[in-house]
Amino acid sequence: MLRYLWPAPWSLFGLALGAAMLAAGGRVRRVQGALEFSGGALARLPGATTAITFGHVILGRSAAGLDALRAHEQVHVRQYERWGPFFVPAYLAEGAWQWLHGRQAYRDNRFEVEARQEPKANPIQLPATEPAPPGRRRTAPLGGSER
Ligand SMILES: [Zn+2]
Repeated sequence: MLRYLWPAPWSLFGLALGAAMLAAGGRVRRVQGALEFSGGALARLPGATTAITFGHVILGRSAAGLDALRAHEQVHVRQYERWGPFFVPAYLAEGAWQWLHGRQAYRDNRFEVEARQEPKANPIQLPATEPAPPGRRRTAPLGGSER
């Protein structure tokens, strides 16, 4: 129960956004202990973000996009369960810290690095069914391409 109460302020924030999405034609599902809202007005917003997590609420452009991103966003749900109301400030501070050190606020953010390390969050990195040519890597390094 505590794992739901501790991040509840952010879950409520997500619920408010989710309710607005429902009012604008979106839909909601309960999957793996989280509420997933998709479609509606969010599907028409500009920008590259296809999903965002607030506590136990995940907002996405489409249900298919949520399916693809679920493992990654579920890592963020676990992070909210650890950090509770402090997750968003910690996330933003970590992004600012990375940016101040010449790195990327999003990609190099340790919370994103952890989420990308979730194996199920990287289906493209599963071993290929065909054997790789000798001397070539079969999979990308964890966390995507490195500089
Ligand atoms: Zn993420």
